[in-house]
Amino acid sequence: MGENPLEAICITIGRISMAVQTNLSKLIKIPQKPTNVQISVSPPTPTASMLAADSYPPHSTDTNTKQAGPVTREELGRATWTFIHTLGAQYQEKPTRQQKKDVKELMAILSRIYPCKECADHFKEVLSSNPVQAGSQTEFSQWLCRVHNVVNRSLGKPTFPCEQVDARWGKLDCEHRMCDLQGTMTPFDKY
Ligand code: FAD
Repeated sequence: MGENPLEAICITIGRISMAVQTNLSKLIKIPQKPTNVQISVSPPTPTASMLAADSYPPHSTDTNTKQAGPVTREELGRATWTFIHTLGAQYQEKPTRQQKKDVKELMAILSRIYPCKECADHFKEVLSSNPVQAGSQTEFSQWLCRVHNVVNRSLGKPTFPCEQVDARWGKLDCEHRMCDLQGTMTPFDKY
């Protein structure tokens, strides 16, 4: 007796489904589940527990032990300082004119659109009495430390010893220094 034609059709549909799933997953970067299920058209959907901040993606820091949801002003502050100080650590010792302009603009933009109005308004005042100094990596990271201390003082927090800023915020932990900023010259820098 020959093969059941329906079985052959089912197998073919199964193979097509797997191919579609694989290509869709690559496009939207959903990891492939190791599975031996042959027929499945829908890519794996993140479950509620996967979306909880502590498991998706996996982290190890204490700030991530809460469930997913709106962040507090403190969490936002910590995340933003992490970004800013890391930028300071990665900043070029000899920045281009464009890089100096960029960090000044970034601070100004932050003082306008930081998503906590009271903090943004306060930061605007901090900037007007402490203009950005970004002539070198040392200058910029020390300036950041000082303005962070201005914010710390206004919140009644202890100040941070700025001579330890490089120890606290080293260069980004990134293989082969691939993440280091390059001092790329732009036409603007020639003048
Ligand atoms: P954070 O102050 O967030 O600091 C994070 C870590 O940075 C610390 O654990 C420490 O290791 C290190 N650190 C501390 N000080 C320094 C420093 N001077 N230099 C280098 N590293 C340091 N909150 C308000 O309630 N009102 C505001 O007006 C306000 N304004 C803000 C303005 C900006 C631009 C930002 C980014 C945040 C602001 N915040 C404000 C949030 C506030 O600064 C804190 O981030 C938040 O209160 C959490 O504080 P924290 O004690 O966990 O440490």
